[in-house]
Amino acid sequence: MSSDRIGARIQQWVRPEIRALSAYHVPPAQGMIKLDAMENPYRWPDELIDAWLEKLRGVHLNRYPDPQASLVKDGLRREMGVPAGHDILLGNGSDEIIQMLALMVSARGRCVLAPEPGFVMYRMIATLTGLDYVGVPLDASFDLDLDAMLAAIKQHQPALVFLALPNNPTGNIFAVDRLRAVIEASEGLVVLDEAYTAFTDADHLGFAEDYDNVLIMRTLSKVGLAGLRLGLLIGAAPWLAELEKVRMPYNINVLTQLSAEFALENFQVIRQQTAAVRAERERLTSELRDIAALQVWPSEANFVLIRVPEGRAPAIFEALKARNILVKCLDGSHPKLHDCLRLTVGEPGDSDQLLAALRETLAA
Ligand SMILES: *Cc1c(COP(=O)(O)O)cnc(C)c1O
Repeated sequence: MSSDRIGARIQQWVRPEIRALSAYHVPPAQGMIKLDAMENPYRWPDELIDAWLEKLRGVHLNRYPDPQASLVKDGLRREMGVPAGHDILLGNGSDEIIQMLALMVSARGRCVLAPEPGFVMYRMIATLTGLDYVGVPLDASFDLDLDAMLAAIKQHQPALVFLALPNNPTGNIFAVDRLRAVIEASEGLVVLDEAYTAFTDADHLGFAEDYDNVLIMRTLSKVGLAGLRLGLLIGAAPWLAELEKVRMPYNINVLTQLSAEFALENFQVIRQQTAAVRAERERLTSELRDIAALQVWPSEANFVLIRVPEGRAPAIFEALKARNILVKCLDGSHPKLHDCLRLTVGEPGDSDQLLAALRETLAA
């Protein structure tokens, strides 16, 4: 088999926009203090793990899962306060929900619009599903640039607008009057991505009642269940009925269903853990502010965005890595993120090591 021949066939058959992409890169993190991916640092207590394993004992792996995952939805409805008039659609992570939304509206010449810097999957999934993508720069304080947003919406008439609240990687929530203006100017669907809802008091479920073009997306990934892959979309039944046609029937496997049911029955443990992460975010933020060389943005999520002295971000990233600490280097990913690092909030001990390593590296 000649790789030249394979290359030629790839040229011929693989869509050019796919050939131009690079696959989503996840760096190896074995044995490291992992502060790069907004995971919850805490595991479950041993008794809870025993009870979970006991529940899994009853699983029927020979059967297909409940296609509706009704018990999971009941638990989500209860723990997330989903309004009675709203339905829930589940995805294998919210990434899959973004993909379903895109597939639902995809047609030649249509686009997805999102403010930038933002969550990279919006652009990636738009490209994969044959939609154009329009990124609109945020303003100097990382809020929506209302004039630019309204102009772009008018010009491009996006089929889908994604707004992350809080936004990743900037950590802030957009001003509510700007949010409403963007929603009211949009003919298409506006998805409010509340992946970090556990770490903020702000809640936009009411927007899905106020506006017929708004859906709310959430996930269990950031509260300690990233390994399960479970995302949800909340909104009016007619929208979700259309999306049901796009959803693969058994997208939520039995192990995820049982585990999510169990986690939702024991959600007080998760609430305690996210409360601890919120408290640690405040401590980490204030300690970072004491380091004069850093610019530190306030955060309503489980990560903190910082700017290091000019030109030093890649070297500081590497120096942290050499000390076994993995963070996210955002320098080069967007003009507004020059010299920036994103630090996931871990346990207090993780923060202590991170702070010590940062002080040492900055002094060098
Ligand atoms: C992490 C994140 C998600 C979650 O993705 P999952 O596929 O549910 O793990 C969604 N949106 C934003 C903005 C995120 O940062």
